[in-house]
Amino acid sequence: MRIAGLDYERREVVVRDGPEPRLGGANEVLFRLQESGICGSDRELAAFRHGYPPPGEAFLILGHEALGQVVETGPAVGGLARGDWVVPLVRRPCQPPCASCARGRRDLCLSGRYTETGIFGRHGYLREYATDAETDLLRVPADLAGCAVLIEPLSVVEKAVETALRIHEPGVRTALVLGAGPLGILAALVLNLRGIEASVFSLEPPDHPRARLIERAGVRYLARPDGVSADVVIEATGSAAAAFAGFGALAPLGVYCILGSPNATGEVPFTELMRHNKTVFGSVNAGPEAFALAVRDLGRLDREVLDGMIQRTSLAALRQSVTAPPPAAVKIVHVVAD
Ligand code: BGC
Repeated sequence: MRIAGLDYERREVVVRDGPEPRLGGANEVLFRLQESGICGSDRELAAFRHGYPPPGEAFLILGHEALGQVVETGPAVGGLARGDWVVPLVRRPCQPPCASCARGRRDLCLSGRYTETGIFGRHGYLREYATDAETDLLRVPADLAGCAVLIEPLSVVEKAVETALRIHEPGVRTALVLGAGPLGILAALVLNLRGIEASVFSLEPPDHPRARLIERAGVRYLARPDGVSADVVIEATGSAAAAFAGFGALAPLGVYCILGSPNATGEVPFTELMRHNKTVFGSVNAGPEAFALAVRDLGRLDREVLDGMIQRTSLAALRQSVTAPPPAAVKIVHVVAD
């Protein structure tokens, strides 16, 4: 079968043939991959700045935002059947499980000994077939299959938004999202769905396709964030300058979520945070509940906007999507199945 990923010896993005997996344990599911999306983490991986292959291997199959269809199930699998659409969770709990992994919150793993498919020590889904335990798969209604490849990034956003809403004492009325990438757009859509007045600030001009997509979703697009004061700010840019600017937009009692991993040092306004009871938190990955929320919300979001985010291409084009992606595409998705 075709596999696509990183060769750590040649330090190259490679699409080649690899062995087909077989059903192992009784609780396992064999599924055929339909498609897999690419994100900033994959670009960091392809630059060999992030992630690592499985132990003893020099190749990592990329792809952690996946959608597949069940082919075969082990005898102990109760909730999935041939033909079901499935989305795999990214993180696998540490063994023996820490307190978080033991209570089903692998995304909050305390030991750091977790693995992540296509990222940290475990193969991803840019391949024709894969096997996983039933507990690592989420069933997706067939009518959502066309945009279900967005469930993984949506789950990351769901966790971040839920956390921010839980922390904010008086109840969130306004939100500012920094960045018009996939996470930024999905965050704005989810906030909007919760009845929160959300705006997105990004560097693209207001006539850019991403800005137009955001406005089509009923969310205000700002080419300048001047004078904004928001109960919740979500940073989804990866840019240090944007992340520091976000502090200035935080209202008293505001909650600031760092989602985009800006790698920088700078001045944190500690006095302002203290005086106005503000909170800053980071969020990464998502547990099973956030994935379930993502499936639910996917069905409630504007399908045209979701479809407008996706640009599909072949597996053979992987090198281009991880090195020089087309600038207007929000989410590049590689179609794996013919
Ligand atoms: C994924 C997360 C993952 C993180 C690790 C992100 O792209 O969506 O699930 O935990 O990368 O860096």
